[in-house]
Amino acid sequence: MYKIAVLPGDGIGPEIVPEAVKTLEAVGSREGVEFQFSEALVGGAAIDARGRALPAETLALCRQSDAVLLGAVGGPKWDTLPPAERPETAALLPLRKELGLYANLRPAYLFAPLAAASPLKPEVVTGTDLLIVRELTGGLYFGPKKREKTATGEVAYDTMLYSTAEIERIVRLAFTIARQRRGHLTSVDKANVLTSSRLWRDTVERLKGEFPEVTVEHMYVDNCAMQLVRRPTQFDVIVTENTFGDILSDQASVLTGSIGMLPSASIGGVVGLYEPCHGSAPDIAGQQKANPLATILSVAMMLKYSFKMDRAAQAVEAAVSRVLAKGYRTPDIYVPGTSLVGTAEMGALVRQELQEG
Ligand code: NAD
Repeated sequence: MYKIAVLPGDGIGPEIVPEAVKTLEAVGSREGVEFQFSEALVGGAAIDARGRALPAETLALCRQSDAVLLGAVGGPKWDTLPPAERPETAALLPLRKELGLYANLRPAYLFAPLAAASPLKPEVVTGTDLLIVRELTGGLYFGPKKREKTATGEVAYDTMLYSTAEIERIVRLAFTIARQRRGHLTSVDKANVLTSSRLWRDTVERLKGEFPEVTVEHMYVDNCAMQLVRRPTQFDVIVTENTFGDILSDQASVLTGSIGMLPSASIGGVVGLYEPCHGSAPDIAGQQKANPLATILSVAMMLKYSFKMDRAAQAVEAAVSRVLAKGYRTPDIYVPGTSLVGTAEMGALVRQELQEG
């Protein structure tokens, strides 16, 4: 039996998360595994009910669970709060930190029927199946920073600081994942300019002997940004530091058509956190227009990375693929000639495929 903390959050969160929960229930009855769900408040919903974005009981529930399923947080109602109290900063960052989640995994996989929805030409994007492993708790966002007035005007700095231990743990994880995929790892840095990148590159070189089945290449981040749109199919696993990963993963996300298709996993601590890459989409909340597939594919990642249920994860991905091949589309991926469905209907179609598949 696995215990799952369910945090729907705000906006479309309460619409998409139930579809992912029901997907897990369908997986449970298929595989003979029991999932026990406990729901808690997070984000704006928690501010309204409890006065803070990450109440102590929510954090405690996450710590006691085997995995966390999160919808999204934030919305216009809470935008006027001071930055430190807003749902995104006061809930997501502490949650990741408290759970020790140092690795963010973002796949960019093109489902063949959606090739026309990508901004790239179908012949360039077809076959894209890559995974970005981003370091999540170090580097520029967390290093020493300051803004101060001097006699000649203001100065400000941030510091891209990494220790060997921080680099080793994320790089080892990326090698391990590459070994389970197609065996190719691209380490992205800026070693021609940055000292922290030279330590990063040296560490990758030192560790590669532990993973003889994996081929490694080093790529400068500026070149990687270009290669992602020039020939995305060349990549299998990309590992990189926090800031580069932040930018590259957003760039990669657009390759596959809609942000409503993109799952993510944050792992490295005792409890993994699984959430769609998108936000709370207040513009379409409460209208059954949201695409639940990013959240459903996030539970496929949960099955793979937290519960080692690879076969079940593949079954969920295959069910999504078959629903798309049959022409069902939520509004964000709709093109004329396909069948328009709402959030709950899309979830039901995936479960039907899971039961029949
Ligand atoms: P967003 O991702 O919520 O929405 C961007 C656009 O994509 C919108 O047009 C939206 O309708 C669409 N979209 C997003 N998810 C979709 C889905 N599943 N199906 C169909 N369309 C979808 O980003 P935003 O508008 O910049 O942010 C809205 C709120 O969400 C803000 O308060 C922001 O801070 C917050 N946010 C939260 C997270 C998170 O919880 N992890 C991440 C990003 C933004």
